[in-house]
Amino acid sequence: MPHHTPLTATIVVGIVTAFLFGVLANRLRISPLAGYLLAGVAVGPFTPGFVADQNLAGELAEIGIILLMFGVGLHFSIKDLMSVRAIAIPGALAQIAVATTLGAVFAHFLGWTLQAGLIFGLALSVASTVVLIRALQERHLIDSERGRIAIGWLIVEDLAMVIALVVLPTLGGKALGAGAVALTLLLTLAKAVAFVAVMLLVGRKIVPMLLHYVAHTGSRELFRLAVLAIALGVAYGAAVLFGVSFALGAFFAGMILSESQLSQRAAEESLPLRDAFAVLFFVSVGMLFNPRILLTAPLEVLAVFLIIVLGKSLAAYFIVRLFGHKTGVALTVSASLAQIGEFSFILAGIGVALDILPGEGRDLILAGALLSILVNPLVFSGLDRVRHRIELATAAPATAEDEPDEEPHLEPTEKSGHIVVVGFGRVGRIIHGELQRAGAAHLVVEVSEAPAAEARAAGVETLAGNAVDDALLKAANIEGAKLLFVAIPNSFEAGQIVEQARVLNPALRIIARAHSEDEVAYLYGLGADITLMGEREIALGMVAHAFELDAVMT
Ligand code: AMP
Repeated sequence: MPHHTPLTATIVVGIVTAFLFGVLANRLRISPLAGYLLAGVAVGPFTPGFVADQNLAGELAEIGIILLMFGVGLHFSIKDLMSVRAIAIPGALAQIAVATTLGAVFAHFLGWTLQAGLIFGLALSVASTVVLIRALQERHLIDSERGRIAIGWLIVEDLAMVIALVVLPTLGGKALGAGAVALTLLLTLAKAVAFVAVMLLVGRKIVPMLLHYVAHTGSRELFRLAVLAIALGVAYGAAVLFGVSFALGAFFAGMILSESQLSQRAAEESLPLRDAFAVLFFVSVGMLFNPRILLTAPLEVLAVFLIIVLGKSLAAYFIVRLFGHKTGVALTVSASLAQIGEFSFILAGIGVALDILPGEGRDLILAGALLSILVNPLVFSGLDRVRHRIELATAAPATAEDEPDEEPHLEPTEKSGHIVVVGFGRVGRIIHGELQRAGAAHLVVEVSEAPAAEARAAGVETLAGNAVDDALLKAANIEGAKLLFVAIPNSFEAGQIVEQARVLNPALRIIARAHSEDEVAYLYGLGADITLMGEREIALGMVAHAFELDAVMT
């Protein structure tokens, strides 16, 4: 039966196995990414049992990349892009040069040709969009300075690869002559520039107009469809008409929408498909992987892995530092780029098809990709730990204000008998205002950079980070606090915070925020003393005002 419906089978099997392995990974307390990758290995051609369609999985993953990059574009303005170009362009180019050299040297030792070495090295130099964006999203870093640098860097890599894909075929035996190569190159660049110009000059006007028109029809469904049509349509058009990558096209489509606040919000709501397709990306990578290489060429795999994770990281680290950014920024950028993915597979595929790269090279690239993606969450947390240690060793609070791009130190509070407010959004800041007026000692825990900065500017002690993290609750001295406000909208996270806080401090009074009766019951079940349902309070407030108005009128 599945043979008659390969697309459906690939989607269903991909998502179901990713889910099962993801849950398993979660139970084992490892990153779900590892689960998705292993799910791919399980349904891939190199392990017994069901084999899903590799090509289809790869194409589905492309949709994931388009939606992810579209989502990233929504967070970016043209100004943001310009603000990081000074570091992103030379940084990415220098890193590509270092990684390519390391790869070429490695290839030389294996006795491959110089061309093979160049393709191999180039493949090791480009990071995966999906892995990078997911990692930044998970840590709420997309909107931060370091996140923007990493994304700008990725975009430069992306552009460099578009050019590489054009030049590569000329490396094959069919020499075209320098003139012809230069011409192709110029044409490619001209097309990329034309695409950007068309998007900025025409797209910038037409796309928001189209969305506003659809918004006025009042149909939510049509609006969502419009957003999806723009994301996919622009990405596809960019690739077909202008020869740039899907990812780049989608990024520009998102960036153009980001200029209007309303469409940005609406567009974000319309991306539920994104995560599902991103998961399929990991499954498709797992499917390509042949575990046998770990036995046949373990040392080579190790060397490739070290080039990706160590060589590239060190290069990125020193480049970022060279540009005068702080250690924390350099470490985050290094960690984000210490992996390879989709572009590497494309390069490897072309290299083999042109008979330049030996098949072993492609297998090594796949193994390097799988392993580097697998350990990426560990690289991130390892570097986080290094960063904390460096920050503790060199703690100089006086300079913290001069360095807005540096993440604030997670210094334990000295307060006790105090109040902790989690979240400094619409709800949290009102709570803060009232507490301040009452003169109550309190501090704020906030995960996003902008509101955390606002809280700090408002003069309240602020711990930047996710309150779900045990370390943050401890730094907020939840053990010694008397009251906790959980003022965030996501009740699963709120539930975890309530549960952990209750364990750390059984006497703590906890007031939590919810948005449905189920959530209220859930939070009470985990130990909240009082849970308010936002919508109910709004209704009561509205009714109270109505009564007041009546009193005025009668
Ligand atoms: P609002 O819904 O406008 O009250 O905003 C909620 C605020 O809580 C936002 O500023 C979020 O960044 C913040 N927030 C959400 N989840 C967490 C969390 N787990 N830890 C700390 N802050 C959070």
